[in-house]
Amino acid sequence: MARSLGITLDATSDAPLYRQIVHEIEGRIRSGALPAGYRLPPSRALALELATHRNTVVRAYEELADIGLVGSTVGRGTFVTPPPPPANPIRPASDGATLPWRSLMSRAAGAEPLRRADRLTRSVRTGDVINMTRMQPPNALLPHEQLRRCLDHVLKTRGPSALSYAPREGVLRLRTLIAEELARAGVPADRDSVLITTGSQQALDVLARALINPGDTFLVDESTYTGAINILTTAGARLIGVPSDELGPDMTALRQLTRAGAKGFYLMPNCGNPTGHSIGLERRRELVAWSHDASVPLIEDDYGADLLIDGHAPPPALRTLDGQVIYVGTFSKKLIPALRVGFMVCPEALRGHLLPLKHAMDLGTSALLQYALAEFIDRGYLRKHLERLQPAYRARRDALVESLRAHLPPGIRCEPPSQGLVLWLDLPSWLNPDDVFDEAQRHGVLITPGTLNSASGSGRPGLRLTFCAEPPDRLAEGARRLSKALKILIDSHRNSTHHKSTRMEVV
Ligand code: PMP
Repeated sequence: MARSLGITLDATSDAPLYRQIVHEIEGRIRSGALPAGYRLPPSRALALELATHRNTVVRAYEELADIGLVGSTVGRGTFVTPPPPPANPIRPASDGATLPWRSLMSRAAGAEPLRRADRLTRSVRTGDVINMTRMQPPNALLPHEQLRRCLDHVLKTRGPSALSYAPREGVLRLRTLIAEELARAGVPADRDSVLITTGSQQALDVLARALINPGDTFLVDESTYTGAINILTTAGARLIGVPSDELGPDMTALRQLTRAGAKGFYLMPNCGNPTGHSIGLERRRELVAWSHDASVPLIEDDYGADLLIDGHAPPPALRTLDGQVIYVGTFSKKLIPALRVGFMVCPEALRGHLLPLKHAMDLGTSALLQYALAEFIDRGYLRKHLERLQPAYRARRDALVESLRAHLPPGIRCEPPSQGLVLWLDLPSWLNPDDVFDEAQRHGVLITPGTLNSASGSGRPGLRLTFCAEPPDRLAEGARRLSKALKILIDSHRNSTHHKSTRMEVV
């Protein structure tokens, strides 16, 4: 009988049991503790030892076989396979000299916003860190079982035809369902006006390529989505950050800033990333009127659609008010980021230009995943899933807000958003958000400094906290840790200004 592997499973972990078994055995094989030829315990025996179902162990063994770590022989058992022979080392063409990569790089590859994010993410701590930068659903809220059923169904019913390239504009059934969902939410759309993209990030990329020549001016909110800053600057745009008040972009500033024209204005009317703020109805009307006066198209990124934490519907979409608005949506936040399915609804005149560009970029968004998503929506799984998300995110937001209100130093306020996944903290102008990022990390909490969200690199000083990826108790603890970090920075600033003024008195 094979000896015990000494595995313990963590029933409280987010990872399914079979994945934990894979992880444990993989670690033992890679470390050499289980050598080539070692016979793993029969699945029934290991299931008994771990007090789990035999199918769980069978599934784990199958996955280990898929990654080439074990092999099975009928009647004999499952054995650790020998490692593959080392690949032929690549021989350098010349005596180790490299090509002049630095001078070969494009200007886009060295764009300042890309380096800004890189600098911060390089220094990120691991270990007991509460992550309030992740903007995606936690494992517990990812409906993998339903997706598996939909994928199975698609493969069973469509067979190999689900595995071809998709039509350029996307799968008809999915476009129809999206158009229906949009129409229900009051956004006029029909299936021919919907263009499926590989994530909404690609929609932004296609639009940037369609509209921007190097040096063109493009407008964004003063604090905006980093991914949009990256796409627009790498396309060569000169970004201008438009200041805003609590109701949306400052219209007077907007008119002054755009006297010389611009190629577009990218904005998030609902639960903006990073501020969580929404634009009021009156300001939406002013924006569409301005767009026609100034001949500047509006790009409306509705990434947080359906994430209505308190159940209040937002004001009508900009595209509801004006058919010339380009509307961008995604399934990443409300469903599954790995689908990489986004979409846009755009004016007829633009569509003919966008389709060939989108096709040139990736030859089509995965047909298999589009069919599976259409099945997911058709079965009513999406509606059900959104009903589950709402109370879960509300509990998370409330835990974070309650703890922030109890612990934040005086003068730093938080406004709870009623939609989306982010909360913004305004900082006093003397407090550098990057310093807060560093100090917060030392206290075991990760937050996004607003410097990453600024078109100019300075912009509105503040912090973005996401409340989707961590459970309520850890968010509450994260708020305590962040508050401690803020107090330390505020106290040290107070002391240094006090010393300065004392010294000045002496002098
Ligand atoms: N827009 C916003 C505001 C986002 O925050 C993101 C992702 N964080 C995207 C678009 C792109 O998402 P995806 O490509 O996954 O649809």
